[in-house]
Amino acid sequence: MYKVILFLLLSIFSYASQIIYLQPKWKDSFQFAGFYMAKQKGFYKKAGLNVHILEYKDNTNIINKVLDNNNTYAVAGSELFYWALKGKKIELLMPILKRSPLALLSTNPSVKTLKDIQNKHVLIGKNALKNPSIVAMLKSKGIDIDKLNIAQSRYSIKDLLTKKEIFAIYTTDELYYVKKKKIKYHLFNPSSFGFDFYGDILFTSQNEVKNHPKRVKAFIKATKEGWVYAFKHINETINTILKYYNTQHLTYDKLKNEAYLLKPYMSENFKFNNKKIERIEDIYVFLNMISNKLDISNYIYNPLELTKKERLFIKSHIIKCISTPTWAPFNTMKNGKLVGIAIDYWSLIKKRLHLKSKCTIDNSWSNILYRIKHKTADLTISTTITPKREKYAVFSKPYSSFPIVIATRNNIGFISNMDFLKNKTVAVGKNYTIEKLIRKNYPSIKIIETKDTNMALKLVRDGRAFATADILPVIAYNINKYDFSNLKIAGRTPWKFSIRIMVRKDYKELIPAINKAINSITDEEKAKIYDSWISVHYQKGYTKNTILNIFIISIIIILITLTWIYYLQKEIAKRKKLEKELEKLATIDKLTSIYNRYKTDLSLHSQIEISKRYKRPLSLIFFDIDFFKKVNDSYGHKAGDMVLSKLCEIVSRSVRKSDIFGRWGGEEFLIILPETTEDEAISLAEKLRQKIEKYTFDKVKNITCSFGVTNYKNGDNSETIMMRVDKQLYKAKQNGRNRIEFV
Ligand code: GH3
Ligand code: MG
Ligand code: MG
Repeated sequence: MYKVILFLLLSIFSYASQIIYLQPKWKDSFQFAGFYMAKQKGFYKKAGLNVHILEYKDNTNIINKVLDNNNTYAVAGSELFYWALKGKKIELLMPILKRSPLALLSTNPSVKTLKDIQNKHVLIGKNALKNPSIVAMLKSKGIDIDKLNIAQSRYSIKDLLTKKEIFAIYTTDELYYVKKKKIKYHLFNPSSFGFDFYGDILFTSQNEVKNHPKRVKAFIKATKEGWVYAFKHINETINTILKYYNTQHLTYDKLKNEAYLLKPYMSENFKFNNKKIERIEDIYVFLNMISNKLDISNYIYNPLELTKKERLFIKSHIIKCISTPTWAPFNTMKNGKLVGIAIDYWSLIKKRLHLKSKCTIDNSWSNILYRIKHKTADLTISTTITPKREKYAVFSKPYSSFPIVIATRNNIGFISNMDFLKNKTVAVGKNYTIEKLIRKNYPSIKIIETKDTNMALKLVRDGRAFATADILPVIAYNINKYDFSNLKIAGRTPWKFSIRIMVRKDYKELIPAINKAINSITDEEKAKIYDSWISVHYQKGYTKNTILNIFIISIIIILITLTWIYYLQKEIAKRKKLEKELEKLATIDKLTSIYNRYKTDLSLHSQIEISKRYKRPLSLIFFDIDFFKKVNDSYGHKAGDMVLSKLCEIVSRSVRKSDIFGRWGGEEFLIILPETTEDEAISLAEKLRQKIEKYTFDKVKNITCSFGVTNYKNGDNSETIMMRVDKQLYKAKQNGRNRIEFV
């Protein structure tokens, strides 16, 4: 009896507040403060969550823990991107640290440069060797990671203070002890090599997101509140950690130091930046750490605001999707699987909606329409609206749209007008939208119905039809992929083809949900889909001609003899390319060693975000060297380069550590000054102007710069503020150069 009561009580309790588990990454430190405060200040409780913070053990495999247990959330570094790209079913919820404080620290006196690490004992966890910043830093200096002498996966503070080795540490955390003990050390910080990706990231399993979308949302919201609170009330937070979470016996001083160091690493909006994520992905690909390029956005939390009704519908239906395999590159077969542009879109939509669905194949398009009409299939993924179809189906918004083009044999001239096709035969897929359009608008065109576009192209090739028409990617794909070398795209029709998902009429609840998913597809995701289906397939097949075959065979023989040389050179080229690519992916400008345009731009965005949110002052100085072309002309490009790098050295020495100094273009520079008023910025600009004017750049005489200054104003974005400061710089040039202008 009491068991029943207990069960009832438990179910009431778990209904009132859902239990979730949170696995810290390291031991207790300020690095986890936001979570502690969210719990301590009741933010989780208010959200209906009962959060248990688990104890961290050295051998905890955090990813497996999250995947193997329900309701479990955890924190780890940007190696999570690696595991996601390896197919682990995790979902990255939000970044906590926008930059990574992870660095390599050497207390071994014989290590002077990063290269010296190669043969020393390295105390790095396995995960640190998957961390994109660390890996890119090591590889950029030619270090062979597989041959590193990894002595042990984790170390203690005692090891750190007594052993003379190399450690992976958080500069915000363990460095404190090393400094305090006045131990001599050498720090290799990936950010100073130009590699600066995310630090701590909150994540959970894809199952959790799928099964408890509300809970995920509530947890994220309360956690953000916790972090904002922790940094607003640092003293209270430290005291809370000392009182409730201090299993490591940290001191007040240590936590205070950590809080202070962590602050600049904190993400302002807890959102991932698409550009930054693409760079991480690229690094893994360039370093050959992942073989197939999975789409990382599948692993990043991107919730859709679905209504209760939509969610319920999705939860209670398994969707029967149906498609032809004969419309390459939209839906086609490869290795026995249905693939293509439409399939890629459908996968994204399915993922975003957590839709349960299975796609089956039917070779006949007419059959598919019949089945949707009679509700033996639920939807098809790539078609258009017609009034007739609207009688029995509903349609999503278009996810993609293309012009319909005309293909003919090579010897036909440009077709500028559909009237040109009057009284000619045009082969088109039976029941295809294009067939309907032609019949309706140009009844004098003679139509031959074919099974699909490939068949229609064959008729044109063989002279049995004058032309065919379909959307551009389909025609281009077929002409390139199959042996249609005597065909070409001869012109455009007046029509565009907007591709939509068609759903049986009684399933209309699905449409608004699908539309929301379509809206959430980013330009990067679209570009990726088109890249993989359109550009790579532009290869022409060989014409099967005996003379040509003999020619090809002799070429092959020559090729084989050249292969050996080629492989030698390829190895060298590969290395060079890798170095080049890493250079591009870095954030430091090679010539001047200051931030490059990419990094400067990124910082500008995030500083504006801070000013906007916290109403803090922010100023910009934008400057350009005067008559620099003349310097190059009279002293040569090398001397010009020297001036650029010397100038950056001077300016770097004159700005604060918290200022961001970057190369905007050739000899244009931007200084972003957080917590700085316009007046302060003007006086800094004046100081710089004088310094540069007085400095002698070896033999190059009279280098001066012109400056524009402005500050952040309400409603600014990066474009408006840059436009304003650029205008001031222009004014400074107009008004005689070597001067400062401000609004
Ligand atoms: P102004 O006072 O109007 O700015 O005159 P300017 O001659 O400096 O004119 P402008 O800004 O149009 O020209 C910049 C020149 O800087 C053009 C380009 O050749 C040179 N430059 C750009 N990047 C580099 C570089 O990396 N090294 C060297 N040596 N020269 C560069
Ligand atoms: Mg110039
Ligand atoms: Mg210029």
